[in-house]
Amino acid sequence: MNRSAAIIGAGVSGLTCGVVFAERGHRTAIFAKEIGQQTTSGAAAALWFPYDVEPANKVIPWALETLRTLIHRARNSNSGVSMIELRQFSRTGEIQIPNWAIPLGARRLSSVATALCRRAGRSGGKRLDTARRLQHFVSGFSLNVPLMDTTIYLDYLAKRLLAAGGLIIENMHFEKLEDVDPKYDLVINCAGIGARELVHDTDLEPHRGQVAIVPRIKDLPYAVVCDDAPLMYAIPRTNDCVFGGTNDLSDDRGADSATTARIVAECSRTLKIEKPTILAERVGLRPFRKSGVRVERAQLCDGRTVVHNYGHGGSGFTLSWGCAEEVVHLATDSPA
Ligand SMILES: Cc1cc2nc3c(=O)[nH]c(=O)nc-3n(C[C@H](O)[C@H](O)[C@H](O)COP(=O)(O)OP(=O)(O)OC[C@H]3O[C@@H](n4cnc5c(N)ncnc54)[C@H](O)[C@@H]3O)c2cc1C
Repeated sequence: MNRSAAIIGAGVSGLTCGVVFAERGHRTAIFAKEIGQQTTSGAAAALWFPYDVEPANKVIPWALETLRTLIHRARNSNSGVSMIELRQFSRTGEIQIPNWAIPLGARRLSSVATALCRRAGRSGGKRLDTARRLQHFVSGFSLNVPLMDTTIYLDYLAKRLLAAGGLIIENMHFEKLEDVDPKYDLVINCAGIGARELVHDTDLEPHRGQVAIVPRIKDLPYAVVCDDAPLMYAIPRTNDCVFGGTNDLSDDRGADSATTARIVAECSRTLKIEKPTILAERVGLRPFRKSGVRVERAQLCDGRTVVHNYGHGGSGFTLSWGCAEEVVHLATDSPA
C-alpha cells in the first residue's frame, strides 16, 4: 500500500530515506530546519568506514549493505561517489584489521614504509614521496572503499528525491513530532543530534568534529587516516582535500581557528608538505548514541506510526542505505 511519509531531517539519513520512499512510490516530503551543506552531513569527510558508532552486531550488516549500494553508485560519476584506497595507520603499535574487512580485501601495510623506502631509494620520484609520507606510522592496512564527496553527493540525493516526485521543505523546525501535518500518515525521524530535543533522547551525545578544506594535494591519490591521538586524516576529493580532525564531547558548532591551525600542521607534517591555504573550516556534531543507533518503529500520541532513524555517530554515510532499507521495511511491511 502506498503511504504518505513526512521525513524530518535533510542530512544524509533523511535524504537517503527520502530517495528510498519516493522511488518506491510513496508520497514523500522532507521537512528540515537546515538542508545539505548546513547539516552535520555537509561537514563530513565522508568515507565508507564504520567509526564511533554502536552496536557492532547491527552496524556491520547495515554498513555492508550500504557498501554494496555505494559500489554500484560509484559507476555513475555524477553521483559524487568514487572508490578510493583508504590507508588506515597507527602511530603506536600493530594495527588490528577488523574481521569484517578481511573478506573485503584489506591488506596489512606494516613495514611497507621501510620496504618502500628501500625500493624508493633505488627508483626515486613519486615512490619516494609515498614512502616518506608513511614514515610517521608504525603499522597500517589498506582497503578500497567508497568516498562520498558531500559537495556533490548530498545534491545528487536531493535531485533523485525530487525526480521521484518528493519534496524538500526547509526552515521548518518542529518542537515535537506530533506537529507534523496530519495529512502524512507516517513520520520518519532523521533529526541527527536534533533528536535530543525533538524526542528528549538523553542517550545522544554530540561528538564534535572540525575539519579544514584545503586545495588538492599533489600525488595524494589515497586517503590517509590515523585514529590514534591526535586524530589525523587527509582525504582527497574531486576538487579539494579534507584535513581532519577532532572528536570531542561538545555542542559548539563554531569553528575554532587554533584547532584548524593544529589540524593543518599535523596533516602537513605527516604528509611532508608545505602548509596549504585553508579554503574553509567546517564543524559538525556526530550524533553518537550511547545505547546504539536507533532504528525503531513506535507510535506518536496521535496514533500515527513513527520510525526513528538517528544516532549514527561517526558513520551516518557508512550506514545510510542499510538503515534506510530497514526504515522502509519497518514503516510499510508491518501493520499500521
Ligand atoms: C568532521 C566529521 C567527519 C565525518 N566523517 C564521516 C565519514 O567519513 N563517514 C561517515 O559515514 N560519517 C562521517 N561523519 C558522521 C556523519 O556526518 C553523521 O553520522 C551524519 O551526518 C548524520 O547524518 P543525519 O542525517 O543523521 O544527521 P544530520 O546531518 O545532522 O541532519 C539532521 C537533520 O535534521 C534536521 N533537524 C534536526 N532537528 C530538527 C527539528 N527539531 N526540526 C526540524 N529539523 C530538524 C537538521 O536541520 C538536519 O537537516 C562525520 C562527521 C563529522 C562531523
